[in-house]
Amino acid sequence: MHEPIARAFLEWFALHRTDYPFRKNRDPYKVWVSEVALQQTRIQAALEQLEIFLQRFPDLSSLATATEKEVLFFFQGLGYYNRARNLRLGAQHIVRHFQGKLPEDYASLLTIPSIGPYTAAAIASIAYGVAIPAIDGNVKRVIARLLALVEAVSEKGFSVKISSFLQGLFERSGDNPGNLNEAIMELGQKICTPRSPLCAICPISFACAAKAQNHPEQYPVRSLARPKMEEVHCYLIIQKRGDQVFLHSWQNFRFLRRHHGYPALLYHPETEQWESSWQNLPPKHLLQEMVKASAFSFSHAITRYRIKVFLCKTCSLPEINGLWFAQEDLIPSFLRKAWMASR
Ligand code: SF4
Repeated sequence: MHEPIARAFLEWFALHRTDYPFRKNRDPYKVWVSEVALQQTRIQAALEQLEIFLQRFPDLSSLATATEKEVLFFFQGLGYYNRARNLRLGAQHIVRHFQGKLPEDYASLLTIPSIGPYTAAAIASIAYGVAIPAIDGNVKRVIARLLALVEAVSEKGFSVKISSFLQGLFERSGDNPGNLNEAIMELGQKICTPRSPLCAICPISFACAAKAQNHPEQYPVRSLARPKMEEVHCYLIIQKRGDQVFLHSWQNFRFLRRHHGYPALLYHPETEQWESSWQNLPPKHLLQEMVKASAFSFSHAITRYRIKVFLCKTCSLPEINGLWFAQEDLIPSFLRKAWMASR
């Protein structure tokens, strides 16, 4: 599947790419400055200013020897001034450590102050033809939709899956990995936009899982919805015989089902419903007596349940099948806590 997708990106890019002035020249220094200056800015609005910046600082040494004040002045309209400061510091580092030439390999590029993974990959692929993906927000959105990734953006699995898919794609990018990077980014800007993606004219729609589901805008998943916590009151009947306690298999509850536990009643305050851990619910007056005879002991959370535990040491044992367990056999921790609290 990687091969036809890589081909579709490249063919679309060959026909529809915008001929930005900075694309005419693949000089590594100019690729670097353009990538930094155009990050998170409206490209069209920033093009003229980028041209002026590159006229004043046409090469690395001119940037490295300029004063900070001058660099900041010419960076106006190109985004945060910190980027301009870092560009100048990066240029000075390259003059000192790389004989004034941006290194070709990704790992060396990453050693330059201010060059992060995205910029290093963009320079390596666009200027030097290294097959490495440059992953920005546009790329993440396109690939997350293409694969209908269920992992949220913040999850490690999201980045791992995006990188691994792109790696496969770049192995099939032929001799122009820079074009593939720019193709995916530009498709994200023009076709696979955050809202209302233009799937009908998208060149990779034939392989797009999000389109097949008819819900492209659901991707990428921003955060996994946390299940709502539900409060329950749990009344445990603690019966002891020497150092043994009476337990039976909880069949009815939605948590700890089939675990052995003390005979128990559950109350759901939201729905005002009662449940018992054995077959039948006791009559209402017995329930009320039991509640009266119980005392709040501790709170505990199991999966999505926040449980307030009440202990009853004087309630009579219902007629149910169960077993006497030694206290050290008590599992899970919820039951051990109840045992400790009942001593
Ligand atoms: S088909 Fe639609 S959702 Fe899928 S990549 Fe293309 S534009 Fe994005």
